[in-house]
Amino acid sequence: MITSPAFSGKRYAVLGLARSGAAAAHALLASGAEVTVWDRQDVAREPFEGRCALADPLELNLSGYDGVVVSPGVPLNTHPIVGHAAQYGVPVIGDIELFALARSNLLPHKVVGITGTNGKTTTTALVHHVLEMAGMPTVLGGNIGVPIMAQEPLAPNEHGVGVYVLELSSYQVDLTFSLDCDAAALTNITPDHLDRYADYDAYAAAKSRLFEMQSGGHFAVFGSLAEPAGAIFQRERERRQAGRAVAADLERFAQRQPGWPSLQGPHNLENVAVAIALVEELGVKPAQWEHALPRFRNLPHRMERVGEENGVLFINDSKATNPASTAPALAAFPPVPSINAGAPRVHWIVGGLAKEDGLGECAAHLDKLAAAYTVGEAGPRFAELIEPHARVERCELVSEAVQRARDAARPGEVVLFSPACASFDQFRDYEKRGEHFRQLVGVIAECGPSDDDPHFKDIAA
Ligand code: ADP
Repeated sequence: MITSPAFSGKRYAVLGLARSGAAAAHALLASGAEVTVWDRQDVAREPFEGRCALADPLELNLSGYDGVVVSPGVPLNTHPIVGHAAQYGVPVIGDIELFALARSNLLPHKVVGITGTNGKTTTTALVHHVLEMAGMPTVLGGNIGVPIMAQEPLAPNEHGVGVYVLELSSYQVDLTFSLDCDAAALTNITPDHLDRYADYDAYAAAKSRLFEMQSGGHFAVFGSLAEPAGAIFQRERERRQAGRAVAADLERFAQRQPGWPSLQGPHNLENVAVAIALVEELGVKPAQWEHALPRFRNLPHRMERVGEENGVLFINDSKATNPASTAPALAAFPPVPSINAGAPRVHWIVGGLAKEDGLGECAAHLDKLAAAYTVGEAGPRFAELIEPHARVERCELVSEAVQRARDAARPGEVVLFSPACASFDQFRDYEKRGEHFRQLVGVIAECGPSDDDPHFKDIAA
C-alpha cells in the first residue's frame, strides 16, 4: 500500500468504497489521516466499521476537510457532491490525486501517464512490458489492474529509479490536480462518453488537463493529431521547451510491424509509436524495445486471437465499444491474395447497445467484409447501413452469429467479434461479452501468434 506523511492529520471524506475508493480509504487511514467513509451498500461499509467515521458526505458540514475522494464512476456533471463540496471550498479528488500528493515521500521515481479515447490500455501495458523487459522496476496502475494506492511502492533497487505507469481515463484526470507526469501521452480523441460532458469540447478539455498539469521541461507525445487532439498538441508545443511535446513518428516503425504479431493494424502502429517515444524518454535503448515488442501479448478482449479452426481465425475484440475502435480492427485485415485471391475475408459480428448512430470510421472498411452478422439492440440499424455494401445476416444473439459465421467462413478468413457498441443490452460488461464469445468459439487451443502465421504476414504491405 502507498502511504504518506503528507496525509497525516488531514481530513478526508471518501464517497464510494468499491475498489479504488476502498484502497484510498485504507491508505489514508494507514497514513494517519482523519477519514469519514461512505457507501450506500452495507457490505462495502462493513470493513471500515470501528476503524473510522461512517457518514454520507452529502449530509456533512465539510468545513475543515482537505478533500472528498470519489470514484471515477461518479458523474461530476450531475452528482450533488460537487455542489455540496464547492459550498465549503473543498476539492473533489480521486485516488490518482492522492498518489500525486504522496509522491514527494516516495523513493526517486518517474511517472508516465497515458490518456486518450482508444488505445490507452494497450499503450500502457506495452510501456510496462518494455520497461520490464529492459530491467527497469515498474508498477502498472490507474485505470488498469490493482488500484494505485493499494500497490506496493517501488522498492530501493540497483537501477536507482523506478517507473509508475498509469493509464488515465478522462474521469480520472477530472479528479486530479497536481500530477506532473515526467512523460505523458495522448493516443487520440474521438467522440465517446459524451453523456458525462457538456459537449465534445468539454471532453477534449478534460483530456488536455493531463498535459496542462505537466511542467514545461517534461515530455508529452501525441498519437493522432486529428482535431481536437491537434489543438492540444499545438498549445503544448508552444508552452514547452523545444522537443518536449512531439508527434509520434509512425513512419519509423511501419516496416518492422510485421514482426510484432500482437500489435497488428494501424491503430497498434499508433500505440507502438507512442509507447516507444515514452520509453525512450525514460532511457530505454532501441535494442531493448526491439527485443520486447515481438514478445508482447494481447490483453484479453482486444484483438485477442481466441482460436483457429480449419484455417479460420477467431478474434475477440469485445473491448471495441464504439465505431472508432472497431475501424482499426477491420483495417487490420487486408485481403490476402495468396490465400483467397484478394477476396473479402472478414466475417464481422457487430452490434449491441449503440453509442452513436451510423458506422462512423467503419464505413471506410466495408470492402473487407465477406459478411456481417448483426446482433443486439443496434443490430437492425447496422443491418440497414451495411446491406448496400455487403452480405448481412440478421442474428439477434451472439451465439447465432458465431454459428452462422463459422458455417460460412472459408480457410484463410477471419471471424471478427468487434461489436462497435456497448454491451449493456445483453451483457454485464464487455468482459462478460468477450468471455461469452470465447466460450462459443470453444477455445480450440491456446492460440498464441506464431511467426509463420499467414493471417498477419503481409499486413504492413
Ligand atoms: P482503451 O483502454 O483506451 O479503451 P484499448 O487499448 O483497451 O483502449 O483498446 C480498446 C479498443 O480500441 C480495441 O478494440 C482496440 O482494437 C481499439 N484501439 C486500440 N488502440 C487504438 C488506437 N490507437 N486508435 C483507435 N482504436 C484503437
